[in-house]
Amino acid sequence: MASIEGTLRQGIPAHLLKGQKALVTGANSGIGLATAVAMGRAGADVVVNYVVGKEEAEKVVEQIRAFGVRAEAYQADVSDEDQVVAMTNRMVEEFGTIDILVANAGMQRDASFTEMTLAQWQKVLDVNLTGQFLCAREATKEFLRRGVVPEVSRAAGKIICMSSVHQLIPWAGHVNYAASKGGVQMMMETLAQELAPKKIRVNAIAPGAIKTPINRSAWETPEAQNDLLRLIPYGRVGEPDDIAAAAVGLASDLMDYVVGATLYVDGGMTLFPGFATGG
Ligand code: NAD
Repeated sequence: MASIEGTLRQGIPAHLLKGQKALVTGANSGIGLATAVAMGRAGADVVVNYVVGKEEAEKVVEQIRAFGVRAEAYQADVSDEDQVVAMTNRMVEEFGTIDILVANAGMQRDASFTEMTLAQWQKVLDVNLTGQFLCAREATKEFLRRGVVPEVSRAAGKIICMSSVHQLIPWAGHVNYAASKGGVQMMMETLAQELAPKKIRVNAIAPGAIKTPINRSAWETPEAQNDLLRLIPYGRVGEPDDIAAAAVGLASDLMDYVVGATLYVDGGMTLFPGFATGG
């Protein structure tokens, strides 16, 4: 019988990211947490960024250290330029470099359009879009400084932007969120075009419905879950590990030729399931 030692639960080799240094933002909850742990399991040293919730972040760090890699929790608000600069500088000082950025931190502040305040609009754009811009810019400076180290990776650096199916699917009552993710798509593609000649790979993951605190009301009751399942041809709500596995693969040299792509990890949510029986 094949041993599961040396493989992820999802079948990813445990040394896929060996020697690489990964920064995962918003890594003390949900998708970021699962991704940070999966990166550690795949052999990367990991910085677990958080804005609030130091205790949760420290628990994630402990989980990652159990794989025999280095992990530290760094507090920073991704929408604050000085804090992002301080975080990436500290990572370079303490870990030596940055090889992988997963720009994951995100939030919702939902309201119907005429009820939405400027503060709600601005906050979501600041965190979901400007936060990714700042983290990507600072990580890129380090990728360019260091260049390609062939023993570590074929690329000088990898950026994974956590987008959403709502970069494609309009979402009534969430105009700030949908606009932020639409912005992430064009930011990601533009950065991918600009940075590919420097051997920096920029890609995105667009999760569908994943069970995390951000969308608890959409899956926590059987009625809500049934409503949600109508939108998912594959017939199950996603788990954070579904996204973590995609992030590890995308960050690895297995996907070295994947540049400027959005990987939809959504159980088919973007396949217009209503058209299976209508239209
Ligand atoms: P979550 O609420 O569990 O996690 C979000 C994380 O971002 C938390 O750790 C939070 O503290 C952090 N964060 C928020 N503001 C921050 C800031 N200013 N600075 C640093 N960190 C900050 O939700 P999640 O579902 O894990 O969301 C992670 C990402 O996945 C988000 O970008 C979200 O838009 C995206 N996403 C989630 C789903 C889903 O169904 N859960 C679907 C599509 C996209």
